[in-house]
Amino acid sequence: MKICVLVKEVPDAAVEKRIDPGTKRLDRSGEKNLNPFDTHAIEAAMQLKEGGAVSVDEIVAVTMGPESAFRALHKAVSLGADRSIHLTDDALAGSDVAATGYALAKVLEQEGPDLVLLGQQSDDGECYTIGAVVADHLKMPSLTQVIKMDVEGDKLRCERQAEYGYDTVEVSLPAVISVGDAINEPRYPSLKAIMGAKKKPLDTKAAGDVGIDAGKVGESGSRTAVLAINPPPAKDAGEIIEDEDTNETVEKIVNWLEERKLLA
Ligand SMILES: Cc1cc2nc3c(=O)[nH]c(=O)nc-3n(C[C@H](O)[C@H](O)[C@H](O)COP(=O)(O)OP(=O)(O)OC[C@H]3O[C@@H](n4cnc5c(N)ncnc54)[C@H](O)[C@@H]3O)c2cc1C
Repeated sequence: MKICVLVKEVPDAAVEKRIDPGTKRLDRSGEKNLNPFDTHAIEAAMQLKEGGAVSVDEIVAVTMGPESAFRALHKAVSLGADRSIHLTDDALAGSDVAATGYALAKVLEQEGPDLVLLGQQSDDGECYTIGAVVADHLKMPSLTQVIKMDVEGDKLRCERQAEYGYDTVEVSLPAVISVGDAINEPRYPSLKAIMGAKKKPLDTKAAGDVGIDAGKVGESGSRTAVLAINPPPAKDAGEIIEDEDTNETVEKIVNWLEERKLLA
């Protein structure tokens, strides 16, 4: 079995998110990291490889992103992927979610995986959408929020997290599975794995290498456009009740809640 894991380089969680008013896009400058949700997808691939129920020949990490995104691939291979592919091209800059999914699908088409794994969401765009877009292009079944996964022959038996518990769903392989963060506890890379990551094969590809139609990617090929950005409406200042006499304070709080019909 060949598994491809989609991984994304995102601004570090500690960096304050800011929209660039000029481009109306997220300012992605500053410290970056491997999208934390994608570490669960890599771990899920590793557990299939180590589990023994199926023979996994290779795990390939795939990203689309600017030049710096190779660092996310180094992290992915230090967590266990055997090799990685970096799709990078100026023509891809400004791609929206549909264009990004199309471009990633073109790389996957060339790779021909039995299973595509990805995180539930990116830590920056948070569209929760790439899995469905990629699956649509590849004409593969797609599941989201998968928290348990077992290979049974040419099928995958999955548990999907739902509001009321979970659904058990069986899909035929090849399939595109986006994993929930409850699926596993990602491992930490060993020092040896971090040092060895740079030696694992990294293939850099341009849009033309995977047959991407330039008219379907980039800002001009994207079907969505950000028309305006507005700050969230300002909230009224809260009421602060100083606790000088506790009985009086409790009475004030209860009255405040009753006035708003918040007490049953
Ligand atoms: C008009 C417009 C212009 C944009 N321009 C840019 C831009 O110039 N640069 C930019 O970075 N973003 C840009 N974006 C955002 C970009 O399109 C989204 O980040 C991208 O479509 C993926 O959506 P998401 O990150 O919310 O992914 P989600 O659907 O939330 O991610 C789910 C999973 O998909 C996988 N994934 C997501 N993105 C990638 C990727 N690139 N490579 C590999 N795996 C991935 C990961 O496994 C992730 O966990 C733009 C968006 C719009 C609307």
